[in-house]
Amino acid sequence: MELLKARILKDGKALDGNIIKVDSFLNHQIDPYLLDEIGKEFYELFRSGNVTKVLTIESSGIAIGVFAAKYLGVPLVFAKKTMSLNIDDNVYTSVVHSYTKKTLYDVKVSKDYLTESDNILIVDDFLANGQAALGLVNIVKEAGARLEGIGIVIEKGFQDGGRLLRSMGIRVESLAIISQMKNGEIFF
Ligand code: 5GP
Repeated sequence: MELLKARILKDGKALDGNIIKVDSFLNHQIDPYLLDEIGKEFYELFRSGNVTKVLTIESSGIAIGVFAAKYLGVPLVFAKKTMSLNIDDNVYTSVVHSYTKKTLYDVKVSKDYLTESDNILIVDDFLANGQAALGLVNIVKEAGARLEGIGIVIEKGFQDGGRLLRSMGIRVESLAIISQMKNGEIFF
């Protein structure tokens, strides 16, 4: 998506540890016009699939998911992150390793909002090693729902997540794929 790539080059910052900072428009301050275009792009990519719900993880995925869900005409459900193992049998749970915080956390989705009749589009801001997406894939499986595919705003193609998910037969569509980051420069 050219608009997105231009914005990454203009405002994105390549940090140490293969981290890209895009918090001036994507995941801290949010540009609603860009996110609207991102939502439209996901709609164009997945419109033929009879998606019944969009699924993401709080908090960075929520804004992206809202725009995608609005264009697809379906609800957005976001998995909640929790540190505690409180007993609640009305939730689907999966454990995720955080790329940015290097910790383990649970993601939970209420059984009220995900059922075996759902066809799910997962969306997220970044794809690095694929652990966040995998956590959501496991929740979709646990619910007995169908997975239509995964929509990612920025994939870091030099990390393993894309390869891992695609090797599982999952359709992964990324709007910008970064091939490398070198001396503070970003390349697609
Ligand atoms: P993964 O689980 O694929 O290893 O990492 C994906 C998650 O980690 C995303 O939900 C995102 O929040 C975070 N993440 C991974 N890489 C980056 C990055 O380069 N920049 C930012 N801002 N977040 C990232």
